[in-house]
Amino acid sequence: MPELRKDPIVGRWVIISTDRAKRPTDFVREQGDFKGGFCPFCYGNESKTPPEILAYRPSSNGNPAQRDVPGWTVRVVPNKFPALGIEGNLNRQAEGMFDKMNGVGAHEVIIEHPQHEATLASLPDKAVEDVLWAYRDRILDLRQDRRFKYILIFKNHGEAAGASLEHPHSQLIALPILPRNVVAELEGAKQYFIYKERCVFCDIIRQEQESGVRVIAENESFLTIAPFAPRFPFESWILPKRHESAFENSSSQMYKDLARAIKNLLNRADRVLDSPAYNLVIHTAPVQDANLEHYHWHIEFMPKLTKTAGFEWGTGFYINPTPPEEAARFLREVNLEAAKPVPGALKK
Ligand code: ZN
Ligand code: ZN
Repeated sequence: MPELRKDPIVGRWVIISTDRAKRPTDFVREQGDFKGGFCPFCYGNESKTPPEILAYRPSSNGNPAQRDVPGWTVRVVPNKFPALGIEGNLNRQAEGMFDKMNGVGAHEVIIEHPQHEATLASLPDKAVEDVLWAYRDRILDLRQDRRFKYILIFKNHGEAAGASLEHPHSQLIALPILPRNVVAELEGAKQYFIYKERCVFCDIIRQEQESGVRVIAENESFLTIAPFAPRFPFESWILPKRHESAFENSSSQMYKDLARAIKNLLNRADRVLDSPAYNLVIHTAPVQDANLEHYHWHIEFMPKLTKTAGFEWGTGFYINPTPPEEAARFLREVNLEAAKPVPGALKK
């Protein structure tokens, strides 16, 4: 019998197929081969992107002449084809019953590493940590702009997940509005807090640690789980064990531990699911409201194994063919020491 499960935060229902549970090998994936060709994110092509906003250059000692040239380890540039424009004011207007405003926002690209073939999973811990520092630096800068209500950081890895460039990168979008999904999470978490006087995420962490059935991995600061009501097969969350509502308010030790937690999860997924395309999204508090006792920042990881179809579009709820207990078991028990399979997305 399939099971209907309700997410305790947003109240979203999912259908978990329990009878014909899909195992990792049951998912057919389009394997994207490396296409190569010109890459604006590689060393030497710095002039092909808009001028950099931020770059870590260990050897330049902040020399301003060292801009838009090789030598960086992480580099942040405006998106060449931004979804929103940085200039101007919002100019909110109504057109009868319809609301509109100028498409003001920031859209930046975080180039994670100079090496074109690198992946977050394969980078040294310190390199992943530097990417997290870049996220933080950009949030701290952009949140001073009072036009912005939310800063979304996400990563599309692989063509199937929406990545248009192969070079390892993530994206940041600063928005003048709170996205609906964020509002739903904030509201759900607030209701739970009003009712129980506890953070719903802290409660999830406690219960998942006790039962262990959906735990994938754990380090000093982070717990990685398959959530109770996941929308997608092998969906996984990385949660800081200490309550904190905003990603950018973490201590430096936290970024060290988070780099390890992210790499650990990605390596597990690469082995179990043969290097899937994936989306990784940081869920954090609104920038102007970054100390909430009811909200708890976290990372959601969604490997691209299924397609969203009519049922999901029509109902807003999801059919997930892999129970999270099984997904967690596969990811938890995989041998990370064994020889790594040739990454599917990075063949040749
Ligand atoms: Zn490149
Ligand atoms: Zn919490």
